[in-house]
Amino acid sequence: TTVFVSGATGFIALHVVDDLLKAGYKVIGSGRSKEKNDGLLKKFNNNPNLSMEVVEDIAAPNAFDEAFQKRGKDIKVVLHIASPVQFNTTDFENDLLIPAVNGTESILEAIKKYAADTVEKVVITSSVAALAAPTDMSNNGFVVNEESWNKDTWESCQADAITAYCGSKKFAERAAWDFVKENQSAIKFTLSTINPGFVFGPQLFTNSLKNGINSSSAIIAKLVRSKASGKFYNFSGPFIDVRDVSKAHLAAFENPKCAGRRLFLCEDLFCSQEVVDVLNEEFPQLKGKIATGEPGSGPGYLAKN
Ligand code: NDP
Repeated sequence: TTVFVSGATGFIALHVVDDLLKAGYKVIGSGRSKEKNDGLLKKFNNNPNLSMEVVEDIAAPNAFDEAFQKRGKDIKVVLHIASPVQFNTTDFENDLLIPAVNGTESILEAIKKYAADTVEKVVITSSVAALAAPTDMSNNGFVVNEESWNKDTWESCQADAITAYCGSKKFAERAAWDFVKENQSAIKFTLSTINPGFVFGPQLFTNSLKNGINSSSAIIAKLVRSKASGKFYNFSGPFIDVRDVSKAHLAAFENPKCAGRRLFLCEDLFCSQEVVDVLNEEFPQLKGKIATGEPGSGPGYLAKN
């Protein structure tokens, strides 16, 4: 079985590619340049079951056509993981919302055009952000289920980068479910989505951080590099280990029960206070140098909300 993985060079996708190869699948990944793709092939020791295609910008029209025209007939499963995850922008439409939605629509269109008979399963990496708006996520009494949708509109998403990112996940996921509904007679695949909370855990390759660490790992990295005297903000949210997120991508297409489902992945809630407590206790080289907050106050946000 051959699995296509978009955005194969990313934090989560690298674990997925690794798990797929270990499970005996053939993998076709997409990355933004030949240079990035060659680097990834090298990291996997030029595994003969792994090949790469260039998809430079998922925001561009028909971004996935070339790759699917070339390889579509071999592909049985598509894992669409690529999407912008960055908060350092003020151009929310062009840097977040449009690429997320266009990327999702163009990969589904490419399947319909070139691989409608071969692709049986599509899994889209959505987010808890598609289930709840940031303002709801900080409300401890807020409950989500498979029917929940982030309430933000395209307009209210223009407030700030976090709101826009969350909106980008909602609008992209919505576009996928709408596509499936509207194209029932032209496709044969079933759709599942993976909706994780903040994803933490090891980088698959420790030398893959040349261009900076991915956004969710940066939350921990910032605390490691915090100053003892600096201002401490006790940030909180739902989290899940990247290795579990990767496993869920495989389960989503291997387990028939996952067809048509949204898989919300959350181990528990975390807060920055707990992270700095662990860093101060377990890493003597950091003690006294990094933020301490109010040690032992634990998940203070639970009591306050
Ligand atoms: P990364 O930034 O490491 O991965 C994102 C991937 O998408 C990269 O390979 C990136 O390529 C690619 N990409 C982004 N924009 C474009 C574009 N315009 N054209 C082509 N490729 C693009 O982040 P993660 O691994 O964390 O994220 C993977 C997925 O998981 C995303 O869909 C994200 O929304 C979702 N997710 C992540 C969570 C987290 O906490 N990490 C939580 C919930 C969902 P390049 O690096 O070359 O730019």
